[in-house]
Amino acid sequence: MTRLGILSLFSFAATLLAQANPDWHTAFPAFKIAGNLYYVGTADLAVYLIHTPSGNILINSDFEQDLPMIRASIEKLGFRYKDTKIVLISHAHGDHDAAVGVLQRETDAKLMVMDADVAEEESKAPGRPGAHVDRILHDQDTVELGGSKLTARLTPGHTKGCTTWTMKVQEGGRTLDVVIVGSPNVNPGYILVGNTKYPPIANDYVKTFAVLKSLPCDIFLGAHGAYFGMKAKYEKMKAGGANAFVDPEGYRAYITERESTFRNEWERQKQNPGSPARKN
Ligand SMILES: [Zn+2]
Repeated sequence: MTRLGILSLFSFAATLLAQANPDWHTAFPAFKIAGNLYYVGTADLAVYLIHTPSGNILINSDFEQDLPMIRASIEKLGFRYKDTKIVLISHAHGDHDAAVGVLQRETDAKLMVMDADVAEEESKAPGRPGAHVDRILHDQDTVELGGSKLTARLTPGHTKGCTTWTMKVQEGGRTLDVVIVGSPNVNPGYILVGNTKYPPIANDYVKTFAVLKSLPCDIFLGAHGAYFGMKAKYEKMKAGGANAFVDPEGYRAYITERESTFRNEWERQKQNPGSPARKN
C-alpha cells in the first residue's frame, strides 16, 4: 500500500471514530496553544479562547451540557467567563453552537455569524440556539478586540455559512499563521447532486477546498479535535520540545485527503443521482 493509501486509511478510521465519539462530552484539560490562543473545549468539540486586554473572544459553544466544562476551563486558565465579549462559531451545527444563546445571556457577549448561517443561528427549531446575531459577517470580514484580529473565511458546503477562522499569534519571537478549519466534511445523508434545498452545494465544497489550499498555515486547528489529532499533539506538547500544534505539513495532508474523499463521493453521486452520502 502506498504511503498516501495508509494515510487515507488512517483518516478513514479517524472519521469513523469521530462519528460515534464519546469524547464529545468528555472534559479535557484547558491549555495554551500559542501566544494568546487557548483551548477550552471538550475532548473533541473544540472551543478556542483568544485572550486580550479588552476581554476574550470565544469560538464555539458546544452543546448546553458542555457549557459548565467550558466555563471551568476558562476559569482554570485564570480568565473570567464574564469577560467573554465576542462569540463566534465554526458553523451552525449543534455540536458547535447549540449553547451560544445561553452563553450570550450569561456573559452579554456579542454574537457574530457568517451571513449564510444567520437564519440557522436565530432559528428556534429543536436543537437550534434561537440566538440573536449582533453582527452579520461576510467573507474576509475581520473581528477585532484588544489588539487581536481574526479573519472570517467563508468555506461553505458543510453548512452554507461554514466559517474558517484565521489569525496571527506571536510565539517565541515568531509570528505564526493560525487556521481553524470550519469543516470540509460531507456528512452522512448529504446530497451533492440535485440537492433542491442547497443547489450549489458541490460547487461550494470545490470553492472551500480552493480557499483552504490558499491559506498560509503554521498552527493547524479545527472545529473538532479529531481533525488535527489534538489529543496526540497535546501529549506531545506536555512532553516538551517544539510546539506540536505547529504542523503545516499535517494541514496540507489533511486538506488533500479531505478533498479526495469529497471528490470520490461527488463522482459516486453523479453515477447515482439522489443517493445520499453514507457513513464514510
Ligand atoms: Zn457540522
